[in-house]
Amino acid sequence: MICKHKTWKDIDGTHKECLDCGVWKGARGDAHYYSMEYYFTPDFGLFNAGIPQRTKVYSEYQFNHFKPLGINFDKSSKILEIGCGVGLISFGFYMDGHDVTIVEQAEWPTKWMDEAFGQHDKFKINKANFENMDRNKLGTKFDFIFANHVWEHLDDPMECLKWCFDNLVHGGKIFLNLPDKEMETHMHHTHCWAYNKEVMELWFQQVGFKNIKSIAYSGSKDQPMKGDFFRIVGEKP
Ligand SMILES: [Zn+2]
Repeated sequence: MICKHKTWKDIDGTHKECLDCGVWKGARGDAHYYSMEYYFTPDFGLFNAGIPQRTKVYSEYQFNHFKPLGINFDKSSKILEIGCGVGLISFGFYMDGHDVTIVEQAEWPTKWMDEAFGQHDKFKINKANFENMDRNKLGTKFDFIFANHVWEHLDDPMECLKWCFDNLVHGGKIFLNLPDKEMETHMHHTHCWAYNKEVMELWFQQVGFKNIKSIAYSGSKDQPMKGDFFRIVGEKP
């Protein structure tokens, strides 16, 4: 039974909390994405630095994000990243021999990737909004689907989670990286939803994922990556 968020409790007039699953819903109604200016700040030097830094970002992700949750890539996998931004992690996967499909709705990162990486048979760039696009274009039966800081922006995150479940192979995994609502005193103005580990673990269970694991961690104290986060993985049985 998937939570339909029938009962809401108003909090401070800025957002509401589902009394069944605990998710927060803000007032924002549009699927938001960040401008180029947002990323091209001194704090985001990695993005600015481009290709030479790419291996570093990718290997840091493998080490810090995927390995602690038991996600390993010892054979070639079919991978989908939703909301990839400039695609540094996904291009790392491609360079490691995986078959990678990415979706990004913003114009500037897709242009950036076209110039920096180019189109390849096994690195497929889709400039699209994941919720509004024809998802048949993406193919199906992925071994791994992941998204960093995307689920807090979606219009219907539960529907997207269900799609991911339906389009993973048996034994395939989903990984999400999200801000933790426990560390927020109010809804972030760019976010539609806020979660904690317990909310997302419940959602994962409701959609059908097994072997769910999550880890809370602290981000930088500086903008724009300020705050605390959690990572979660689930497996399609
Ligand atoms: Zn709910």
